Amino acid sequence: MTASILDTGIKVVRNVSGFTVGRGSLDRLPEFVAARRAVAGANAKVVYLVDGFFRGHPDIVARLQPQSTDVVRFVDVVDEPTTDGIDAMTDDIRKAAGSLPATIVGFGGGTTMDTAKAVANLLTNHGKAADYQGWDLVKVPGVHKIAVPTLSGTGAEATRTCVMTNTKTGLKLGMNSDYTVYDQMVLDPDLTATVPRNQYFYTGMDAYIHCIEALAGSYRNAVGDAYSRETVNLCRQVFLADDMMSDEARERLMVASYLGGCAIATSYVGVVHPFSAGLSVVLGLHHCVANCIALNALAEFYPAEHAEFRTMLAKQNVSLPSGVCAGLTDEQFARLVAATVVHAKPLTNALGPDFRTVLTDAKVIEIFRRM
Ligand code: NAD
Ligand code: ZN
Repeated sequence: MTASILDTGIKVVRNVSGFTVGRGSLDRLPEFVAARRAVAGANAKVVYLVDGFFRGHPDIVARLQPQSTDVVRFVDVVDEPTTDGIDAMTDDIRKAAGSLPATIVGFGGGTTMDTAKAVANLLTNHGKAADYQGWDLVKVPGVHKIAVPTLSGTGAEATRTCVMTNTKTGLKLGMNSDYTVYDQMVLDPDLTATVPRNQYFYTGMDAYIHCIEALAGSYRNAVGDAYSRETVNLCRQVFLADDMMSDEARERLMVASYLGGCAIATSYVGVVHPFSAGLSVVLGLHHCVANCIALNALAEFYPAEHAEFRTMLAKQNVSLPSGVCAGLTDEQFARLVAATVVHAKPLTNALGPDFRTVLTDAKVIEIFRRM
């Protein structure tokens, strides 16, 4: 059998070890944390990384019940994680926690959950975040960690990666490792009620896009396909409904996000994510809005899904930024091409190992010009 670049650790799949789901389930978090304190010893602190939005919601932060000696840090989501930012956060946590924390709680959207994953790995593996960008490079288990998503779609609560941009090399790639998977998870759909509508749509569509890409790829397995199909079903129920943010819809999308994460943890994405990564690395667009802009320009690769996506946008009355590549220089287009075609695994999954015969430089630039 010839080796494929798609052969990685994802052949044996690891899931989050335990979770609770349902409205109000946030109130179970202190129990999970107490169990970890009991294992780690009375002196071990707990680290809470909390999305900066919740600075303005002390009532919710109080429900996490941090002790006065614990370490609480707000993560300001202006930029998505960078390797330098993760290194700085890790240094800060190492100093503030003293010894290894009993657990790290990642409370927020994909950015905050990924930050917690990366910090947990670095506290035990040492070195710099950039050392672990790739597949199966993390050597020893990280600190125990608990995900509490407050925004649904990325599946960061379920996956074996934590996406970071290396600002020096321009590489946007996570620590793909079994050790990156969360140990526990609290899925409380009440937490997503405050998300702005456009953000809710863009991030929610990440779950849909992960799964349409996985289902169209060559690297497939029966469990991943089942997760993907149900994720797409749930996304249809949410985004084709009258109100995508009803209590019922928010619960469905939270489940879709988790199942979509499980799906993508056993497979690869396709053409949309590499183009989206190009937009993020070169133009600084955030992942989920960049995905939507990319899918909108990739009808030729995903015709049925593209049409459905357009219907969902219209139904929810959400608008997409347009003209994002207008007026770019040749040099910027060259960087966009490089930042897209570097993603050989998903592009191989979607188009085969000769993907560059389809995605020539000229073709990639033509697609970006449509955005
Ligand atoms: P985000 O975490 O970047 O947050 C987006 C905005 O929503 C922020 O302003 C944040 O403060 C706000 N927000 C979060 N929860 C809120 C709430 N309950 N109410 C009001 N505002 C709230 O958004 P995201 O789209 O979830 O995450 C994007 C990140 O996830 C990117 O860095 C991307 O690379 C990463 N990602 C990771 C994976 C993975 O498998 N690890 C997969 C896909 C994407
Ligand atoms: Zn994604």
